[in-house]
Parts: sequence; C-alpha cells; structure tokens
Amino acid sequence: MKILVTGGAGFIGSHLCAKLLDLGHVVYCLDNLCTGSVENLEDMRDNPRFRFILADATAPITLEVDAVAHLASPASPVDYQRMPVQTMLVNSLGTYQSLEVARKNSARYLLASTSEVYGDPLKVPQDEDYPGNVNPVGPRACYDESKRFAEALTATYRRLYGLETVILRIFNTYGPRMRREDGRVVPNFIQQALAGIPLTVYGDGTQTRSFCYVDDLVEGICLALESEKAVGQVINLGNDREMTVLELARLVKEMLDSPSDITFLPLPEDDPRRRKPDLTRAREILGWEPVTGLEEGLRRTMEWFRG
Ligand code: UDP
Repeated sequence: MKILVTGGAGFIGSHLCAKLLDLGHVVYCLDNLCTGSVENLEDMRDNPRFRFILADATAPITLEVDAVAHLASPASPVDYQRMPVQTMLVNSLGTYQSLEVARKNSARYLLASTSEVYGDPLKVPQDEDYPGNVNPVGPRACYDESKRFAEALTATYRRLYGLETVILRIFNTYGPRMRREDGRVVPNFIQQALAGIPLTVYGDGTQTRSFCYVDDLVEGICLALESEKAVGQVINLGNDREMTVLELARLVKEMLDSPSDITFLPLPEDDPRRRKPDLTRAREILGWEPVTGLEEGLRRTMEWFRG
C-alpha cells in the first residue's frame, strides 16, 4: 500500500513509518517538525519507498494513496499548552485536509485520537462507549476538544461518504525518541533519575496512568490499518496495567539505582485522576494485546535516554 502518515517525524509517527516500511509499504511522511524531528527519520531516509514531505497538515495536499494515518498534533500537555491554537488547527483543519485526501482516493483513514477525549473520567476502566467528562474551557481543552472534533468529523465522513475510517484512542505511550524536553512523566522521571536530581511528582502522586510501550502501540496501529473488522470502529489502544504516578517514580528510581529524592509540586489544573483503558474491543477486533512489560519497556527507554 501507499500510506500517508501525517506527523510521521514525531515520536509515535516515526516508529509507525519504520514499521510500515518493514512491512513493504510505500510511506509518505508529512510533518512540519513543530515537535517532530528529522533525526527520528535517519534510518529511513535512504529507503526508496520512503518520502519526507515538509509541510503543515492544515495545508491542502494532493497525493495518490491507499491509506492515510493522521497522527499530526502536539500530544504532550506541555507542548499543546505551548501551542494551543496550532494544536486546535491541526486537529480540525488538519483532520479535514487529511480526510479529503482519503475521500478523493477512496483510501482507508485512520485517526490517531486520544484517551484525553475521556477527560477526567468518572468511569474506570474507560470503554469506547463512555462519552467522557471534559472541561471545554480548561487548559487541556485545546487538545481534548479538538480531538473530539476530529473524531466527530471522521465519523461524519464515514456516514456521509462511506469512507473506511478507524478511530484509535491512544492511551499514555512511552519509549525511545520521546523528546528530552517533552515534559511527559516518563521522560521527566528517567532524566531526573539519571541526573540525580529530584523526581517531580505533581500533586500527591495518587493519580493513575497506564503506560504502553511504543512498539506494542505501533503493532496495534498497523493491525487497524489492515483489518476489515476495524472499519467504522472506535478502538482504545494502550496498556491496562494501571499504577499511580508515585509508584512509577519509585520504580524508575529503583531501576536506575538513583539517589534522587522525590519532590511534590502542584497538580496541574484538570489533570485526570484515573486513566485505564478497557481493551476488550482491541482484543476482539484486532486480536491485539500489549506484550511488553513496563519494566522491560522502561529498560529500553532508559537505554535510549542514556545514549
Ligand atoms: N506528572 C508528574 N511529574 C512530571 C510530569 C507529569 O507527576 O514531571 C504527572 C501528571 O501530572 C499526570 C501524569 O504524570 O498526572 C501523566 O502526565 P503526562 O504529562 O505524562 O501525560 P497525561 O497523561 O497527563 O497526558
């Protein structure tokens, strides 16, 4: 297949491009490099089936493709609050432009949505039928609400044009190629522990997250791109081992045998209390299962940050 990956130079996008090339596909990687980087593409640059397009996903583009995976968007709270309007535009106008590419080609369309559409969820674990609990005017709204709009637009293209769409709600993902200044909890804790400076736990650290290793996630995305059963579906992808942020801090410290203290800083506004995916649908429809244990995934990520 010929596949357009928007946000292909980013953390998840670059892992996806590499995997799609491995599977024998032709990959058009589109990115404006606002959070992505060409270094992430180094191993692919010379592959004749790979093409990098330096462009903003909000601009119209003409391409012949069999599938579109729309991943372009800042995804870390630090990034999207630094670029709130850009984030809202790539998830609205960028979703429209990439849907149009898919519609004109009768191509499969995959939207990389997020667990953030559940907001601060009142239901645990979160299944795909849970409509969420989102503050539409809070500091996270630029991301949450624009991703919700992206889902609504994608669902509308499915109804209106019969487009083959798949909406994936991606939960917390970590691994090599996360930026050092990304601001998310895994890169922060690993770098702090390596430097011997205090690990910054926000709030009292009792809030929970469930962390998925990037290779597992990318495997799920590839299955969703090819599966007939996935068409028209909304599917959670992530890992369902839930833990508190404080437990994660202790684990990272222990694994790196770090002398760092743990310091407690104010909890950011609207920080979700609990997050854990219900993966029943991913298991049933995609036959997918996250297989990398947290310790193993962290070990590989720590190696990368050391390098
Ligand atoms: N967090 C933290 N210390 C950090 C960075 C994040 O305690 O240095 C917390 C944050 O408040 C949240 C969780 O870790 O409760 C996950 O945050 P992250 O930014 O990784 O992603 P989110 O799940 O909030 O999108």
